[in-house]
Amino acid sequence: MATSNATLCQNYIGGRWVNSTSKQTHRITNPAHGSSVVATVQASVVEDAEDAVQASANALNSWSSTPAPQRSAILYKAYELMRDQEDEFARTITLEEGKPLADARGEVKRSLNIIEYAAGEGRRMFGYTTPSELTSTLAYTVRRPVGVVAIITPWNFPLAIPTWKIAPALICGNTVVFKPASSTPLSAVKLVEIFEKAGLPPGVLNLVTGTGASIGDHIVTHPKVQGISFTGSTEIGAKLYAQAAERLKKVQCEMGGKNAVIVLADADINHALGGIVQAAFGSTGQRCTATSRVIVEESAYDSFIQELIRHTRRLKVGDGMDPEVDVGPTASEAQFRKIIEYINIGTSEGARLIYGGKALTGRQNEGGYYVEPTIFADVDPKMRIAQEEIFGPVLTVFKAKDLEEAIAIANNVQFGLSSSIYCRDLAKAFQYVEQVEAGMVHINSPTLGGEVHLPFGGTKASGVGAREQGTEAVNFFSEVVTVYVDYAGNRTQAKFI
Ligand code: NAP
Repeated sequence: MATSNATLCQNYIGGRWVNSTSKQTHRITNPAHGSSVVATVQASVVEDAEDAVQASANALNSWSSTPAPQRSAILYKAYELMRDQEDEFARTITLEEGKPLADARGEVKRSLNIIEYAAGEGRRMFGYTTPSELTSTLAYTVRRPVGVVAIITPWNFPLAIPTWKIAPALICGNTVVFKPASSTPLSAVKLVEIFEKAGLPPGVLNLVTGTGASIGDHIVTHPKVQGISFTGSTEIGAKLYAQAAERLKKVQCEMGGKNAVIVLADADINHALGGIVQAAFGSTGQRCTATSRVIVEESAYDSFIQELIRHTRRLKVGDGMDPEVDVGPTASEAQFRKIIEYINIGTSEGARLIYGGKALTGRQNEGGYYVEPTIFADVDPKMRIAQEEIFGPVLTVFKAKDLEEAIAIANNVQFGLSSSIYCRDLAKAFQYVEQVEAGMVHINSPTLGGEVHLPFGGTKASGVGAREQGTEAVNFFSEVVTVYVDYAGNRTQAKFI
């Protein structure tokens, strides 16, 4: 067993909890209180990653030949175990990532939905049959696992993102090498523990904690790793995609965003504000689907700005463990510094700072990494704060003369993850759906979220490879094999048209 509930977390390789061969650990701190250490985890090196890949490869034959409904039974058991520990999972997320407990509970709920959905897929691992061109011939397809897959995840959803990759990978019969973000490995350890307790055979799921810089290349380029599912920054994703493509591996990368909301003058502005404030500042703006740009039609612009400030002023910033808090700390010192730097960039670029803009210090914040919810108005689409992903509680507001100009601004970034429009005119709403460049489009609802049985992912620099979740996940984590059976066995030559 892991000693995760004390202070030391171990790797899980070949069904055993083990220390890194490096004998080194690194410390995990609570971003709400900067220097408070909540655990130490293994600082893994290439030898550990190699052990994890070998363990996955050794377990592959047995797991891939286990009937999918039997794999389902293990996932259902894992679902029950997570449900029994819902609160503990939520607290772990808040402790290591900083988001308010209510958001963390939402993340656990989503993870439960994913495991339940994936477990059901074990009884729906469909292929299809179709008439053959030939007589006495049965033609059909079956699904096979990809093989050993690597799962590499970011810190902002330390439970849900690993779950939405691991659960479909397992149900499809793959074995897994899992490398979570190095700043948030505690939820990952708890997730692996429940799969262990649910009866997953040794070697099917292997966890190595450590930095991408020390073990990432070894995992991604390993000849025994046939598939890679990555979520993280566009910078790392692009590098990883190239490494994987060169080696002809199956790969999906979900990456950065700069999600925009358009507010037209005929919208229900109060309704729009509720969604925008929640999506811009909830989870400290550190959701991949967070709103970071709002484009407002000219005639509604001034009143919208005033109301936006009024709504934002109501938010309480503080330790996510406090049930009164709406906005937690940024997730790490590095995030904190990056966000403050972008606020300075916005000011020096000439955007109008209309709310917030400062780090929050003082006794009640006890050295945590807090930044005020921040709003820049009159932003020029060419500015860096309009183009680059800030990934924090910073909202940029643009003025557009009409829908066409608003869509042009929305599309004028390298990213294309999530998007939204608030308006009452259906024709305009559907014009937007046709023209906006994003993998997920919302009408009169925030840029946030997604349901586990629907595809999730982005276009342009936000995503390459197959979408995640829903049936798309099964498509990614399986290979389709086409089978021809000459059941009479009396043809000497194939006679295809
Ligand atoms: P990141 O720095 O790209 O890291 C993501 C993961 O990759 C981490 O586990 C990281 O390890 C690992 N990694 C780093 N270098 C690597 C290498 N050379 N080879 C293999 N793996 C390597 O991203 P992040 O800062 O954790 O996460 C924030 C980003 O994720 C944002 O850009 C956000 O938009 C994006 N995101 C996208 C989605 C989506 O669905 N599109 C969802 C959530 C988040 P270390 O932790 O050790 O660096």
